Amino acid sequence: MSKYCYFNGKIVTEDKAKIPVTDIAVLRGYAIFDSLAGEGSKAPRLVEHLDRFYRSAKSAGIKVPVVREELVEAIESLLKKNKFAQTKLRILLTGGQTINGGLEYDDKSANICILADELLPLPNKIYENGASLITAEYERPLSEIKTTNYSFAVSKQKDRKKAKAIEILYVLEGKVYECSTSNFFIVKDKELITAKDGILKGVTRKMLIKAAPKMNLKVVERDLTVAELKTADEAFLTGTYKGILPIIKIDDFLIGKGVVGPIVKSLVQANREGKI
Ligand code: PMP
Repeated sequence: MSKYCYFNGKIVTEDKAKIPVTDIAVLRGYAIFDSLAGEGSKAPRLVEHLDRFYRSAKSAGIKVPVVREELVEAIESLLKKNKFAQTKLRILLTGGQTINGGLEYDDKSANICILADELLPLPNKIYENGASLITAEYERPLSEIKTTNYSFAVSKQKDRKKAKAIEILYVLEGKVYECSTSNFFIVKDKELITAKDGILKGVTRKMLIKAAPKMNLKVVERDLTVAELKTADEAFLTGTYKGILPIIKIDDFLIGKGVVGPIVKSLVQANREGKI
């Protein structure tokens, strides 16, 4: 059965949503997006995701051709029509038609669409036993903007699978940034430490920073070094689809004792209970 999506003002089946090959998104990778989850017919954290979507568009210099209410309505209809228990929603905005194949484009022809796919949660045992990461030397360009440029991450998927890692951790010149589709934290002496700059400011990360004091935890946003990874007590990643996921191994070394520690365990639990 074909899924429903929103495309330039209409709800249509996915096969009817076509972006021209001459769109600058295709030719030059000029497009932004945001991804959020649907829970039944509701979209938790919708405001935060739409805020980031409009922020990304503004920073990239692309004008969003529709008002927020239209996107909210479209998301509500897609959740009702597709009827997935949990949904992956992706709001995509392209630059528009290139002018003569060059670097300029006609901003009146931007394409906006919202795709909906079934969200299949990761198995419980990954949250209980923890997952591993591999590192790669990289920092996302225009890191605070959610551009569609994930070329580096896509090119590393074979390596990730071979290493049985859940994600790739970006490190560069001794600094730790983020994972390919998640933010990264270490726990050291009861503090949660995460990179401050050179990352996408994740919505899950933001919610955790807000909730941490209520759990008597302190979050420190600062440069995090590769050397510190080896001294971490615990580690985890945060992301809309993965939630809070314990990390017990990075490349060939174990984090702490190589098991899920008590602080990360409590964060996973709190997130499940909607306390984050
Ligand atoms: N960093 C990158 C590069 C991402 O793609 C994502 C996923 N949107 C995140 C971090 C985590 O952000 P969020 O918590 O909003 O899903």
